[in-house]
Amino acid sequence: MNPLGCHALVWVGDWSERSARYAIESTAQVGYDLIEVPILDPSTVDTAMTRRLLEDNGLGSACSLGLDDTTDVSSEDPAIVAAGRDRLAAAVEAAHDMGAAHLVGVLYSKLGKYPRPITATGRGHVTESMAWLAKQAGDAGLSLSLEVVNRYETNVVNTAADMLTLIDETGANIGAHLDSYHMNIEENGFVEPVQQTAGRLGYLHIGESHRGYLGTGTIDFDALFGAVRDIGYTGPVTFESFSSAVVHPDLSNTLAVWRNLWDDSRNLAETAFAFMAERLARR
Ligand code: MN
Repeated sequence: MNPLGCHALVWVGDWSERSARYAIESTAQVGYDLIEVPILDPSTVDTAMTRRLLEDNGLGSACSLGLDDTTDVSSEDPAIVAAGRDRLAAAVEAAHDMGAAHLVGVLYSKLGKYPRPITATGRGHVTESMAWLAKQAGDAGLSLSLEVVNRYETNVVNTAADMLTLIDETGANIGAHLDSYHMNIEENGFVEPVQQTAGRLGYLHIGESHRGYLGTGTIDFDALFGAVRDIGYTGPVTFESFSSAVVHPDLSNTLAVWRNLWDDSRNLAETAFAFMAERLARR
């Protein structure tokens, strides 16, 4: 059975010690194997505190982030690309220091809507930067996967097939990170992209079409989980959900989290755990 994960934004919008303790203890109590901690600004994360709380609760972790306008490695501006690599190097260090096993997310792009397509120069900066990042992550013992997200959150790649092409161009050991919420917007269905990433899927986000309770939206989770089982994927399966009830100062606005889709974090997390575990166990 795959390790099951829960995104920290199910519980908290900040990473003070009080919030980190609540999120980590709650995630472990529900029965999850790991928590995904967003580290958009790695310099603000107390890695020693986080590592201690994770160890105390026997919980694994993944770190995720997306870049911003000042650190976008898909920029044509070499100074912005350099700032992006500094941000990514700090993320590798933070993930390593907190004992995380996985570094995932939109590490190749600004997380947000672009006003125009990516340029050839920008694309070159992405492949060079991801080849560089793969070396950094490998040296730190981290599994690296790049998340495929929809057109409103990046202009670099929006489908699994295009992500595999990008990864091939880097020539590096990088996994694909798929997310059902984004697949629902961009892909032809839920089976094809999973099959395309067979053997190369490194991380999986499970989110509903509206990012609320699993099973209350339009995503065909039976098809998705069937494909995940068929390709023999054994990596993490992490529940990702957002509501205006839990607000991160940057991420919530970037992801356009305007609606209240839930208030009861504990019930949400328990429901998602049971939902994912039951489907992964089907034969
Ligand atoms: Mn995601």
